[in-house]
Amino acid sequence: MHANENLTTERPTFVTHLECSMTGERHDADVVHNLSRAGKPLLVRYDLDGVKKALSKEALARRPADLWRYREMLPVRRVENIVSLGEAMTPLVPLPALAKKLRGGEILVKDEGRLPTGSFKARGLVMAVSMAKAFGIKHMAIPTNGNAGAALAAYASHAGIKTTIFCPEDTPEVNLSEIGIQGAEVYRVNGLIDDCGKIVGEGKAKVGWFDVSTLKEPYRIEGKKTMGIELAEQLGWTVPDVIFYPTGGGTGLIGMWKAFAELAAIGFIGAKRPRMVAVQAAGCAPMVRAYERGEEHAPRWEDAHTIAAGIRVPQAIGDFLILRAVRESGGFAIAVSDDAIAAGLAEVARDEGFLMCPEGAATYAAYKQSLADGRVKPGDRAVLFNCATGLKYPLPPIKRTLDRLKPIDYSQFSASAP
Ligand SMILES: *Cc1c(COP(=O)(O)O)cnc(C)c1O
Repeated sequence: MHANENLTTERPTFVTHLECSMTGERHDADVVHNLSRAGKPLLVRYDLDGVKKALSKEALARRPADLWRYREMLPVRRVENIVSLGEAMTPLVPLPALAKKLRGGEILVKDEGRLPTGSFKARGLVMAVSMAKAFGIKHMAIPTNGNAGAALAAYASHAGIKTTIFCPEDTPEVNLSEIGIQGAEVYRVNGLIDDCGKIVGEGKAKVGWFDVSTLKEPYRIEGKKTMGIELAEQLGWTVPDVIFYPTGGGTGLIGMWKAFAELAAIGFIGAKRPRMVAVQAAGCAPMVRAYERGEEHAPRWEDAHTIAAGIRVPQAIGDFLILRAVRESGGFAIAVSDDAIAAGLAEVARDEGFLMCPEGAATYAAYKQSLADGRVKPGDRAVLFNCATGLKYPLPPIKRTLDRLKPIDYSQFSASAP
């Protein structure tokens, strides 16, 4: 059965228009957009009454387990524009041993490392590239800490679209290699991600590429919102008590918050919302600083540094949307040190056999910290986002060797700890 068999090529979806996230000003759908006229992110709006009539939970339950099962709530209008590499639903993996050890509540990890290109950036970029294909865009450019570039390169190459990609100079080799081998022209730039973003912005007029930077085009957020829909469906159309989200540009946090509002509007979930927790690294925590100061915007964080490169984003154009979602949900923003991230990563791998990426480990460290300071209660059902496969990241070397030509002392094996 093909994922999109019910979607004929003529069948319209339910997109009505795009809306400026700051001013609410209406913008036409079906034309190429970056930011709104006010220079802010654009949000896609749907005829949710129409979706409500067209979509039932039962019909949904029979569809293939991928992201396109939510097509009525997605912006791609024609099947032939879908650029798929197999966007599987990702599992919710419980961490029972750690829940017990911490005397916490239920801990569920949404393991986004199972997606194409090994990270949840696939959700956003599959949507952006499918829309770019619909619009006939021929060349796309992006600033990236690694995963967004890999996802863009993969989907754009699949669609026959050219890509030019800029990474901070200390981006891990594996990310540059995967981007390059997937057909992109990739450059190391002596700066951070926002410095790379400036190059992409300036090149727009000169080269004519389409800027697919975080929240500077309207559709990545629609792809990322499927994390919220999927999560609610997996929990029997309920939401957890608290979500820990590793926050860089915030697309996923903003997207999930939008998803919950849309799901409530079509009657799939009730009024309860999860507390949204924005997790950042202590070395780059602009959202946490703004949250604590009660501010609506988050100025640039200078000298940003952390081992969790995916959340090393000194300034986010959607800052006010992140902070709004966090506050409206009754959640909070929290920073964790690189030491806590590294220790968390090792602890989850050792105790549960689950290799998280550093950003995912940051959510675990934040959960622990929040349980200790009482902001999360032992009765809470918590969902942590492991946003990429841990295998993409440099891992500690193993130094232990065995010389098979010398007598082997077998007692050493039973003496070692499990
Ligand atoms: C991009 C990325 C993030 C941050 O996601 P946003 O939705 O942009 O805030 C976190 N972790 C990893 C591994 C990423 O690639």
